[in-house]
Order: sequence, then C-alpha cells, then structure tokens
Amino acid sequence: MNAHDSERISGLLEEDGMEMAEHEDDADVVVLNTCCIRENADEKLYGTLGWLKPWKEAGKSLGRERQIVVAGCLAQKDKEVVREKAPYVDVVMGTHNVHRAIDLLDMASVRGGITEIFDEAVIDDHALFPSALPVKRERSYNAWVTIQIGCDNSCTYCIVPSVRGEEISRPFDDIVAEVQGLTAQGVTEISLLGQNVNSYGRDLSLAKKRGGDLDVRVRPQFAELLRAVGSVEGVRRVRYVSPHPKDMNLETLQAMADTAAVCEHLHYPLQSGSDRVLSLMHRGYTAERYLSRMQEARALIPDLAVTTDIIVGFPGETEDDFLRSMEVAAEAQFDAAYLYIFSPREGTAAALMTDDYCDPAVVSQRYDRLKVVLDHSAVQKHRERIGRTEEVIVEGRNKRDEEKWTGRTRQNKLVHFASDEMLRVGQYAMVEIHDAARFHLSGVLTEVGEMPTHKVRLSVQSV
Ligand code: SF4
Repeated sequence: MNAHDSERISGLLEEDGMEMAEHEDDADVVVLNTCCIRENADEKLYGTLGWLKPWKEAGKSLGRERQIVVAGCLAQKDKEVVREKAPYVDVVMGTHNVHRAIDLLDMASVRGGITEIFDEAVIDDHALFPSALPVKRERSYNAWVTIQIGCDNSCTYCIVPSVRGEEISRPFDDIVAEVQGLTAQGVTEISLLGQNVNSYGRDLSLAKKRGGDLDVRVRPQFAELLRAVGSVEGVRRVRYVSPHPKDMNLETLQAMADTAAVCEHLHYPLQSGSDRVLSLMHRGYTAERYLSRMQEARALIPDLAVTTDIIVGFPGETEDDFLRSMEVAAEAQFDAAYLYIFSPREGTAAALMTDDYCDPAVVSQRYDRLKVVLDHSAVQKHRERIGRTEEVIVEGRNKRDEEKWTGRTRQNKLVHFASDEMLRVGQYAMVEIHDAARFHLSGVLTEVGEMPTHKVRLSVQSV
C-alpha cells in the first residue's frame, strides 16, 4: 500500500512538471513516504531528516527553494513528533492526503510548514481511492489497483488499523473501470490491493442497509470482483494481497479456480501454529481451520503455490507454542515464507505485553530452527517444477548475469533463464525449468509470446 501511494505521489509531481532527480543535489523536493510497519521506521526517518536539513539550507545559498515532504503512516501517527524534531519540514501529510500533495507544497511555499492529516470520514471516495490520480508506475505492464483501504481487525501486533483507519471498500464499478483503463494502456497483470481483501464489500452492504434497499442488491463479494476483473479483456494475470485466513471462504477459492486469469498463488498469512498464540494475536482462526481451508484451496486449484508470513517470539510464546508453528509449517509445505521476529510497534496491544517478552537468544534460535523447515519445503516445491515448461512474464535482464533474463511465473516464482532472443519487459515467454534453488528457478527459453503493447519510457539524450 505504501509503495503504491509512492507511485501516486510521483505521478502527481510529474504531472505538475517535475522530473525524477538522480541525486538529491539536483532535487527541489524530497518526499519521504514512511511506513511504520517497517522496523525502525522512525530512526530511519529522523536520521534522513537530519541530513536533509543542511541540504535544504544549502538550497537558499544556491537561490533555490528546496522542500521536504513527510508522508505515510508514520506521519499520520507521529505528526507532532515530526514537527517537533524537524520543524524545517515543509509538509507533513497523512495516508489520506496523497491527492493533496501539490496543493500542500504550494501552500507551504507561501505560508511555511503545513501539517494536514485528513480523517477518512471527512473526505470523499475520489480522494480515498485516487484512481483518477496520475501514477508513475515502477513496472508499466503491472498495476496495483486499490480495492479497499484501512482495516477493521485488531491483530494485537499490528499498527495498521490505527494509521490507515477503518475498512472502506471501493465501489465495484470503479475498480472494474480502472482495470479496463489499465488494459487499454497495455497493462496485462493486475494486483488487487487491500489490507483484508476477503472482507471486501462488507461495508458496502451496510451502506445499502442504511439506504433501506437491501432487496435491490446484496453486497458485492471479493469472489465476484475476482471474476469481474479476471474477465476484463486484455487481463492475463490477476493477483491479490492480502487475504485473512479467518475470512477466506469457498466462494473466493471457487472464483480463483474458475477464472483463468487469476494466478495459482495464494499468500495466506499463518502468523503462528499455536492456537493459544493465535488467540493472543486476535487472529480469529485456529491452526486446524487454517490447514483445512488450505487443503480445500489446493484441492480446488491445481498447481496452487501457497506462501505465508510467520512471527516467532510473540509475547508469551512458549517452546510448546513454537513447536506447533514448526509442525504446522511442516504440514503446510509452503512454497515460500516471510519469517519475522516479533518486534513491538508502539501503540499496539502487543507492545504493552512487556512482562511476556521472550528471551531474544531463545527467539533467535527458534527463528533458525523454523527457517530450516521453511527452506526445506521451499526447495522441495521448487524441485518439483524441474522439467516443466512454465509461462513467465519477462521482468528484465538478470541483475547478476546480464547474459540471462528474469521472469515471474503465475505461481509468483522468480525464474532466471537463458535466451538467444531479444526480449521486452512485460512480454510473455515459455521457459523450460532445469534447476531449482530456495528463492528461484533456472531454465531456458523455449517460446516467445507476442510483443507487449504497454508504452515504455526512453530517456532523452542530447546528441
Ligand atoms: S488483518 Fe490484522 S495484520 Fe492485517 S492489517 Fe488488519 S490488523 Fe493488521
């Protein structure tokens, strides 16, 4: 979500006539779009602001006005702290103020430092879901599409509900219209974005109830959205993040199975294998329910890759609790996992459980033990693909070996491959898999797909 907001801010600034600077010496505006889910986000922010102070002052001696913007959820959460520690910041803006970036910079030029944090209750849908805002995409063949903002859950380790606000679903037709517009620009891969995509539409039905016309239309469900987006002409791949296991229903899995464009990849965050810890985390499911829904998903969707997130060392986690995480991980046979050591986020319930914090040395050992299990299943899953021919979307030249290319499969696996053909980013190609490692597959190009139609920016060079 944070990365997508950055794309929007870049797009707005570009539309206003700015260009991306290669180095801060050439820049007039620096935007720090913070994400407080990241560890040490505040240290990084204030460290960066420390060296931006002389940068800003040096601008005056050069006769240039230099401006600093602090955006994102850390700004939302700590606006006074940012002002206090770095009064020279020009604009402090919250997660719902992205659409106002240019106005705020202009106002700050005239009046000095501006702080603006909107509450979602006081702004309209257009501002909440800035589909009409210009965007500077990192990849021109792939687009994030926001379907929902905020979160109504209360996972005790998570800061998102307090910095992103309550869950608000974007109108169904707006989402489909944005996807249609994207395919007209040559985008073929759509990633639907929300904090808890499975509960998409829940608030829309409440709005209908208030309107008193429940008979006219029941709420749209995420499953319907998947089918609608997957059937837009030109869409070849649909992905989504993130589902919540407590809200994962069979309708969604069936829609994945029925809709050819929806990729065979499910990111399904486990967090812990212990029911006791899951309850302390307020996750709302048990390990058994998690596993049984995952089995249903694998039965319905052939060749499904499942990835996950797991936290070790949550306050109060005992050795027995940890062993349950080991057992569930071994049984689940994940294709890949993001493994985190618990670290408290100020303002969350878990941050207050200080009496139950685990011994860091024990947690570090648990991390290493669980990683062995997860790595083993990742390698196993990758080895099973040797000898198969996979469709990849070309991401570019391999960064470590310019002779090779890199692509991504429908299962979201990275593939490094050899090719005698000149390929284009965003092109589809078939690759025969010859080898497998923990994080990637290797292979050889067997067939090139049609050329992509998205526009590519070429840098203008003087001759
Ligand atoms: S579902 Fe839980 S972890 Fe995910 S954003 Fe909401 S509160 Fe955070």
